[in-house]
Amino acid sequence: MASLADPATRFTHVAHLAPTPVAERDAVLANPGFGARFTDHMVVIEYSEEHGWHGATVQPYGPIALDPASSVLHYAQEIFEGLKAYRHPDGSMALFRPTANAARFNASARRLAMPELPEDLFIAAINALVLADRDWFPTVEGGSLYLRPFMIATEAFLGVRPAKAYKFIVIASPAGNYFKSGASAVSIWVSDYTRAAPGGTGAAKCGGNYAASLVPTAEAFAKGHDQVLFLDAAEHKWIEELGGMNLFFAFADGSLLTPPLTGTILAGITRDSLIRLARDEGLTVREEPYSLDQWRADAASGQLVEAFACGTAAVVTPVGQVAGRDGSFEIGGGGPGQLTGKLKARLTAIQRGEAPDPHQWVHQIG
Ligand SMILES: *Cc1c(COP(=O)(O)O)cnc(C)c1O
Repeated sequence: MASLADPATRFTHVAHLAPTPVAERDAVLANPGFGARFTDHMVVIEYSEEHGWHGATVQPYGPIALDPASSVLHYAQEIFEGLKAYRHPDGSMALFRPTANAARFNASARRLAMPELPEDLFIAAINALVLADRDWFPTVEGGSLYLRPFMIATEAFLGVRPAKAYKFIVIASPAGNYFKSGASAVSIWVSDYTRAAPGGTGAAKCGGNYAASLVPTAEAFAKGHDQVLFLDAAEHKWIEELGGMNLFFAFADGSLLTPPLTGTILAGITRDSLIRLARDEGLTVREEPYSLDQWRADAASGQLVEAFACGTAAVVTPVGQVAGRDGSFEIGGGGPGQLTGKLKARLTAIQRGEAPDPHQWVHQIG
């Protein structure tokens, strides 16, 4: 068995005998959409109690065989990450803050009673996949290669306890600009459902949280909104986050506010990056609780001028309208705001290698 301690011998490469024809791939890359098409390869690493992490391969993308008794299929022992690789103007390829994703993946693993993956192995797996599928970067403006590392419990056992066998897999999907140029503002529905309670799994990036958010999200869509907003579970008063994005509020005095990470909110890497970039600009950023009632009052008085959601997939999305059981209100003019646009431009320029990288966030591949 190849030792995973030695980077040179870590990954066994399994040749792809029938890669996607070039004309078909080019058509995907010209109009990638989001999350519907996948590259030719995937990385798989196995875990067993006896051998630890072993058997790392870069292999053709395709279905995996699972025993029907695998714990993930019954008790949802699953975690994931999401990050993007970018093709820079000089032709190099780069990841944005992959060590932050690796650390968060292990925090999620601890909460879901799963084994941690060494951070350098997490990053080596992503690098290996991007190198294998280097011809899969979208050719459209604002495109990137979206990477989805995840871990599932594969032990065939129906008893309720942490599994003893796992698979770590990385797949990649060419991604376009999530929202076409100019990102129009979204409308959000304040849900009566809750996403995460104190002591629960809200801070872990696990599939189970998403499963629980699907009914509220479908309800928001049915009412004509784009996203769902979750309030805190205890008082149903404090703003937490959207189904998969963190929230920021911008005030007339130039300051920003985002809800604090108290265990029920997912610690977004986009959130953390925007806090640092805003502070670089000399802006005050407060991590403080903010209630829905206060938001409504501040929007009415003009104190609140912009609100936006953020996450890896869409980066920054302005919020234009908020609706719930108690009626609706608009933010600013209902369209994208100035500060929102400026912060988004600052962040994406660093990610795309078009601006200096003062925080060493960009990680070159190859
Ligand atoms: C992934 C995720 C986010 C955003 O995190 P990023 O690291 O910025 O992509 C926010 N909320 C939830 C619930 C998430 O799963």
